[in-house]
Amino acid sequence: MRFGEEADMETLEEFDFVIVGAGSAGCVLANRLSADPATRVLLLEAGGEDKNLWIHIPAGFYRNIFNPAIGWGFETEPLPALGGRRMPWPRGKVLGGSSAINGLIYIRGQPQDFDMWAQLGNSGWSYDDVLPYFRRAENQERGEDEYHGAGGPLCVSDLRARHELHDAFIAGAIEDGYPFNGDFNGAAQEGAGPLQVTVRGMRRCSTAVGYLRPAMKRPNLKVETRALAHRVLFDGKRAVGLEYRKDGASHRVRARAEVLLAGGAINSPQLLQLSGVGPAALLKSFGIAVVADLPGVGENLQDHVNTRLVYRARHANTLNEVSRSLWRKAWAGLSYMFARRGALMMGAAPIGLFVRTREGLESPDVQYQFLAGSFVKPGEAMHDFPACQATCIPCRPQSRGWIKIHSPDPAVPPAIQPNYLAAEEDKRTLIAGLRIARRIFNTRAMQEYVSEEVLPGAAAESDEDWLDHIKKNAGTTYHPTSTCMMGRGEKAVVDSALRVRGLLGIRVADASIMPAVVSGNTNAATIMIGEKGAEMILAAARAATPAARFKTA
Ligand SMILES: Cc1cc2nc3c(=O)[nH]c(=O)nc-3n(C[C@H](O)[C@H](O)[C@H](O)COP(=O)(O)OP(=O)(O)OC[C@H]3O[C@@H](n4cnc5c(N)ncnc54)[C@H](O)[C@@H]3O)c2cc1C
Repeated sequence: MRFGEEADMETLEEFDFVIVGAGSAGCVLANRLSADPATRVLLLEAGGEDKNLWIHIPAGFYRNIFNPAIGWGFETEPLPALGGRRMPWPRGKVLGGSSAINGLIYIRGQPQDFDMWAQLGNSGWSYDDVLPYFRRAENQERGEDEYHGAGGPLCVSDLRARHELHDAFIAGAIEDGYPFNGDFNGAAQEGAGPLQVTVRGMRRCSTAVGYLRPAMKRPNLKVETRALAHRVLFDGKRAVGLEYRKDGASHRVRARAEVLLAGGAINSPQLLQLSGVGPAALLKSFGIAVVADLPGVGENLQDHVNTRLVYRARHANTLNEVSRSLWRKAWAGLSYMFARRGALMMGAAPIGLFVRTREGLESPDVQYQFLAGSFVKPGEAMHDFPACQATCIPCRPQSRGWIKIHSPDPAVPPAIQPNYLAAEEDKRTLIAGLRIARRIFNTRAMQEYVSEEVLPGAAAESDEDWLDHIKKNAGTTYHPTSTCMMGRGEKAVVDSALRVRGLLGIRVADASIMPAVVSGNTNAATIMIGEKGAEMILAAARAATPAARFKTA
């Protein structure tokens, strides 16, 4: 059944913009597009409100990674290069989306990432083009400068959790020849230093907190939680509305101007496929009528695969002891409440390092996250001995995977195949990165604090040994992107204005549009996409409306 076939279609509730997904990008869109009181905006979110207390306490990230009440609980298909095991793939399903459950690390990526996007034919997306949107989004506690903004909705702060092991890791990296870096989002990314986090005061600054909450007071913005978008409604090639399910009932709404998909790198391609936009053969195999045969929808999936090194620590209290001792937990609670410091202020990692694994590279190809603690598996208990870990993350994976619907039922998760390490280069880079990490643990500065390599263990030396370790222990860094790739050519899904190719009235604006994943964590770049997307959407609306109803945000 297509939109317009039913007699009562004219009576549907109408909005100028209908946005799917209140995540990192969706909350930005909702805020910017509803800034003009004359513009009616509907924001649909499959999850509920962000009431869970642990969302807002930075270290609560660790408790919530796999919390089914606020997450989608996705899992990958068997991973060929990782011994056929499946991997849990958490995504936020709550106001704020994945920005409400992420590790809070604020990294934008490298200027070269965005320059490459532009070179692929996406004019307007070079580093110089996107820097103003990073700055517009940001409220940097160190103040404004050429790279940073100070008046934006997204609070970025220094981490208040000092530890002797943090200093030792930075000193070890310097001893090994890397520079100190006090700002990974400034003049250069290379080197070791403290990471900044998306925290306001003592609380997480998700996009629900930074962008959505202030906009929710506006009468022209309607936010529907626990509303699962089922499909986009088309009139020919024009998107004209949306069908969603809430409280057990189906609802339809009209979009006067545009339907905007911000469901993230897994759900946006899924929703397009369910709506008849995607690889024709796949859609037909589920009896879905093809609106547009776009073979790239769900293709080009990328993620940052990672592998850790764990070392037993000496002369230092690590987070492992904090996690097991009642009085240390109490002390962490008091430090948090009264001094805004300590273990509870910590996100995924306090210390970062970016390196080049070989000569001739223009910019770093491996990122590390160092933690004065270690866990058995993500989301599981900390080790029952004092330890620290460095997570090694190749920045620019060459392997490509896919997302495909499993069923025409929107409630059934799609199949997810990231194809980790399918490209030989990815294996080489990861092994080279792990060897560099071991070198840093072996520096004088680090040897003062660590005794023994626990994972993989000093006996691991050959490429085969490292690959075996990777096979058993590699994990996701939670950065899926690029499944609705922006660009030109057959596999491109959106153009450089984020419009879905061959269709009218529909755009995608979230992590799925990145032509290639950025060299670093993905939240900041996704928020930038929301900012730039909103500006383009408003500009198009103004151009199409002679009465100048759509004003600047
Ligand atoms: C555990 C974890 C840790 C991470 N750590 C970091 C970090 O430290 N730093 C960093 O920079 N990045 C980190 N990331 C990655 C970063 O958070 C994501 O790249 C970013 O949030 C993606 O934003 P998005 O807007 O594309 O999608 P999301 O933020 O996931 O938003 C999508 C939203 O759409 C909703 N939705 C989806 N489908 C539908 C539908 N059909 N109907 C209605 N609503 C729908 C979802 O429920 C969700 O709220 C982490 C991610 C995770 C999961």
